[in-house]
Amino acid sequence: MTLVLAGATLIDGTGRPPLPDAAVVIEGDRITAAGRRAALSWPAAAEVVELGGRTLIPGLIDAHDHLASHGYGLPTRWGLDEPASTAHLRTARVLADTLAMGYTTVRDAGGLDAGFKLAIEQGLIGGPRLVVALGIISPTGGIGDRVSPSGHDCCGAWDPLLPETVANGPDRARDVVRAMVRAGADVIKTATTGGASSRAGHGPKDPAFSSPEMEALVGESHALGRRVMCHALGGPGLGTALAAGVDSIEHGCYLDEEPELLAEMAGRGVFLVPTLTVYVYHRESPAPHVRARALALYEHHIATVQRALEMGISIAAGTDAGGHGHPKNALELGYLVEAGLSPMQALRAATQWAAQCLGLERDLGTVESGRLADLVAVDGNPLDDVKLLLEPARIHLVVKGGAIAADRRPAVVR
Ligand SMILES: [Zn+2]
Repeated sequence: MTLVLAGATLIDGTGRPPLPDAAVVIEGDRITAAGRRAALSWPAAAEVVELGGRTLIPGLIDAHDHLASHGYGLPTRWGLDEPASTAHLRTARVLADTLAMGYTTVRDAGGLDAGFKLAIEQGLIGGPRLVVALGIISPTGGIGDRVSPSGHDCCGAWDPLLPETVANGPDRARDVVRAMVRAGADVIKTATTGGASSRAGHGPKDPAFSSPEMEALVGESHALGRRVMCHALGGPGLGTALAAGVDSIEHGCYLDEEPELLAEMAGRGVFLVPTLTVYVYHRESPAPHVRARALALYEHHIATVQRALEMGISIAAGTDAGGHGHPKNALELGYLVEAGLSPMQALRAATQWAAQCLGLERDLGTVESGRLADLVAVDGNPLDDVKLLLEPARIHLVVKGGAIAADRRPAVVR
């Protein structure tokens, strides 16, 4: 079966200028041709979807989300305030809503087990393609060590699909990576610093993990064919992560204070996933220490994004949504534009560059022959205003793997 999306202005994700009156030809789950409509042909029996007046972009990618997180309060984070089944169904709703907003791929940075990916692949529920980390690996006292402000350990039920995330010592770091991979992790998530929302006493510049521990963790991940995404905001943990060979720095708020590390990222092709969205949210946090950290890092974070752009570091869009952003993942594009990216660069950060960050650029991120057919038709042109992507009514059509996944076209009377 051939599906043709015809008549839209095509922004293909490669940075090429928009192409008016384009057509994209899809056979099965792949794109077989994309270009000027007048220059392409297709079988007479093809289903042609007319998209005149709309803009067609690659399926959007969020490179850092927490789809199974529904709030920052302790009862919610520890799964105490509702049955696990209710929480899972809530997550399924988030997955469906996220796809309907044009997000055809999401990298989950912890909290979502691989069963959701299976359920989507088997067609039990709708949702984006998933790249899952399962959990955040840290040493005792790091952000993967779930303790309450009173010092209690997490009392939630242990789930074998979400393995233990605390690792102390190189051998244990290898062990935990292997357990993650056994449970279905596509990517390894770790943390070498505290964060904005981490416990008081473990802030954005406080380190976690020694160099031997990180070298073991990254070495084992790479040996098993998994990339490493590393939460690191500032201070010595940034250098520990980069020296160990991580593939992306998540957040990276205080990288502006480390020009030699930015140069290393540019030279080695390490991605930056700033996740500006979550810090806007934390500026309003009810917890005073979280609010103060988010306010203090803001100017550094913007400067970091600008330095990264100047130095040619690839930026991937991620929201760190979970309890605040679902399904407004496109907020990040607006914040990236405010930080200095052009709308085209912001769009590439959520398509081609994000696909590269995930190591999936051969399949995803651009509208080109041979790629998986993940596309979004938008009412209006996001290059005029990327915030259009936040309006559900403007997400006209979502195609994932050649199948129509969300459709706001007026019902056709037959
Ligand atoms: Zn995160």
